[in-house]
Amino acid sequence: MNWDDTPEEAAFRDEVRAFVRDRFPASYRPDPDGEQSLEPEDVRGYNWPADRVSDDAERREGARAWAAALAERGWIAPHWPREYGGAGLSALEEFILHEELMRARVPTVNGIGAFLLGPTLLVHGTDEQKAAHLPRIARGETTWAQGFSEPGAGSDLASLRTRAVRDGDAYVVDGQKVWTSLGQYADWLFVLVRTDPDAEPRHRGITFLLVDTSLPGVTVRPITDLRGAAPFCEVFFEGVRVPVACRVGDENRGWYVAMSALGFERAGIGATIKYEQALLDLVGYLRSAEGRGLVRADRGASYRREIARRYAEIRVLYNLARYTVSVQAAGPEGTEPGYEASVNQLFGAELHQRLARTGAKAFGRAGTLWARDGAPLNAAFTHMTRDAVAATFLGGASEIQRNVIATRGLHLPRS
Ligand SMILES: Cc1cc2nc3c(=O)[nH]c(=O)nc-3n(C[C@H](O)[C@H](O)[C@H](O)COP(=O)(O)OP(=O)(O)OC[C@H]3O[C@@H](n4cnc5c(N)ncnc54)[C@H](O)[C@@H]3O)c2cc1C
Repeated sequence: MNWDDTPEEAAFRDEVRAFVRDRFPASYRPDPDGEQSLEPEDVRGYNWPADRVSDDAERREGARAWAAALAERGWIAPHWPREYGGAGLSALEEFILHEELMRARVPTVNGIGAFLLGPTLLVHGTDEQKAAHLPRIARGETTWAQGFSEPGAGSDLASLRTRAVRDGDAYVVDGQKVWTSLGQYADWLFVLVRTDPDAEPRHRGITFLLVDTSLPGVTVRPITDLRGAAPFCEVFFEGVRVPVACRVGDENRGWYVAMSALGFERAGIGATIKYEQALLDLVGYLRSAEGRGLVRADRGASYRREIARRYAEIRVLYNLARYTVSVQAAGPEGTEPGYEASVNQLFGAELHQRLARTGAKAFGRAGTLWARDGAPLNAAFTHMTRDAVAATFLGGASEIQRNVIATRGLHLPRS
């Protein structure tokens, strides 16, 4: 398969580079000590949903100005139709756009709304829901978070217990979500709730709702992780009245809506570019005057081979991401990522952990330094080692991805 840019794609790539050069606000500088979330599109030093409401006025304005610049072009949600604030780009153009933003180390904007909820609403939402929510996401005005997991429901999502009972033109929601990424910055949540407690199979009793976080009865509590950051939250619902108009899809059929959202979640390019940059930074450091000699001479050859293997794996991941997008692009409009996205997610998550170990190994005891000042390579691989712990379950556990690949990709029997 030839994935070289066509002349049009190469021209578009140049256009994106020029746009970043001209429009990325100089005042919106990376903050290496800032709190990092763990979303695949994160760029180190930025956390756009947090920056958007930062106490630091310069940072807040930078985040807003960058969102406004992207929104002008429809590039917050590049693949959506123009009527909803997108740019109507093809899946491949969107891939190139994100690749170039990541390479320039500038943040994408409104990731969960733009890459998860938006595409899901385009497939399953009503015209009213699309008109109400998509343009605001595409302008960077409303941010979203995903409330699927619960204390007793992660991999076995169908066992979720947050209850919604119909009362006139509203559902009354009671229960708890957990690990809700960036929930403390979200204006809205998309959540799965149980509307039929007796349904068999259980996933046929689940409904997909859009919940305004300012509604009475919603409480959001950030959770601190092993890095001392709070990338996610607990969310409690106590008698929250959610209008029936905020239901996506039919009652008790929310599972299928959620599966679309999860497919979109696993299809991104973000991680690949991040890993490539991290490895090239490592190689650059080891070749520099400061880093030369760090790896003991008698281990040099095997370490070189290990680095070469990581590089080859990063190229594989890039090609997997590109392949996932090309499958989508080749299908009719609205084709969703399939099991290919799980291959991408699984390989990427495990590579993240291997890469972190490879990097940390070079630094010996200095590889445990957490403070960036004075640490070799600004402690990048100490941080990556901690970030990588969650990689193999944050977007669905590796075992679950393997099940998807086995059953949907290879058509193996379920038992
Ligand atoms: C950083 C981070 C961000 C997250 N963000 C969000 C978010 O925004 N929204 C949200 O809803 N959730 C979010 N999550 C939750 C995430 O989706 C769950 O952690 C994940 O689905 C796994 O569920 P669990 O943690 O309950 O683990 P469990 O499901 O309890 O799994 C525990 C272990 O058992 C294994 N296991 C479970 N079932 C099987 C099986 N059938 N076969 C073989 N092995 C199995 C798993 O692989 C795993 O090793 C986030 C998690 C993290 C770490």
